[in-house]
Amino acid sequence: MTQPDFVPTQPPVASDASEVDLPLPLTAPQRKPRLLVVDDQPIHLQVLHRALARDHQLFMATTGAQALKVCRNQAPDLVLLDVVMPDMDGFEVLQQLKAAPETTDIPVIFVTAHGGDEIETQCLQAGAVDFIPKPVNPSVVRARVKTHLTLKFQSDFLRDMAFMDGLTGVSNRRQFDERLNVEWGRAQRNGTPLSLVLLDVDFFKAYNDHYGHQAGDDCLRQLASVLKASLRRPTDLVARYGGEEFVCLLPETAFSDGMDMAHKLLSAVTRRAMPHHFSAVAPVVTISLGLATREGIGQTGRAEDLLALADAQLYRAKHAGRAQVCGQRLGAGPSHGQP
Ligand code: GH3
Ligand code: MG
Ligand code: MG
Repeated sequence: MTQPDFVPTQPPVASDASEVDLPLPLTAPQRKPRLLVVDDQPIHLQVLHRALARDHQLFMATTGAQALKVCRNQAPDLVLLDVVMPDMDGFEVLQQLKAAPETTDIPVIFVTAHGGDEIETQCLQAGAVDFIPKPVNPSVVRARVKTHLTLKFQSDFLRDMAFMDGLTGVSNRRQFDERLNVEWGRAQRNGTPLSLVLLDVDFFKAYNDHYGHQAGDDCLRQLASVLKASLRRPTDLVARYGGEEFVCLLPETAFSDGMDMAHKLLSAVTRRAMPHHFSAVAPVVTISLGLATREGIGQTGRAEDLLALADAQLYRAKHAGRAQVCGQRLGAGPSHGQP
């Protein structure tokens, strides 16, 4: 498939970044842009279809209710929305899109026969990104769509970058903090378990001192890619917590499964066999891990308690000799070593 020409150029990627599963290309989706076209009159849909079908994946809707459903289920990149429709007009559709977090960022262009400054102003004030008068001119529609898709992909890219750790390409602390709060709330509502693993590289200061800071950075990149590859569920999150510390958030994971996962991470990192001849525990890079799990319905407390408990467990693992896992359930006694 040839790339559509509106896709912004990718930022340069460091040559050694191939090691890391960087979430690029964020601005250049390897797919056609997804457009939703909404109009109650099939003839208008046909005209827009002819103008846009070649370069876009098109979804069609003839009512406001259908349009909202497609937006929720298909997450289009852009919506071309008729203003006058019998069941629910375009303004109401836009209002509902703006009100829901999962659809609030989808840009909407109004398309209407009822032109004039007043209606145009009203459309833009309602939150539409643009206004196209009917009858539509195919090249004007294509040009405006191209402009707004470019803006959409750029803002998606910037938002994703704001949640990404620049060195390793995994999520950053900000993303983790947000997800922790969301998952904590979900666990509280549904009575499902939530596990959190905090981990830290052993003797990393010595690694930097002897191999150099660049090699240290490279080690962190490799570590991030090993951790990411070890997590299997799409809801699992790995983030760089800061420095040489990473955190894994494991929703719907009970304590014993959390212990299994922490041991799996430990052995995956050890098996990667990055030489570390200045570590006092092994000739390769190792990590120490602290697990904390919230289990059971009706458990009180705050998300920060889970993080503090994981931190305390990591501290225990360090003091017990490093390259090992310590864990504890929130509100229970500690557990050490094998699950
Ligand atoms: P411990 O086993 O107790 O964790 O010992 P440690 O040497 O790993 O811990 P310490 O906190 O003494 O040192 C952490 C080191 O991590 C020091 C710091 O320079 C290094 N570090 C933190 N962030 C980065 C980074 O982004 N890149 C590199 N190369 N090094 C980093
Ligand atoms: Mg360390
Ligand atoms: Mg540290």
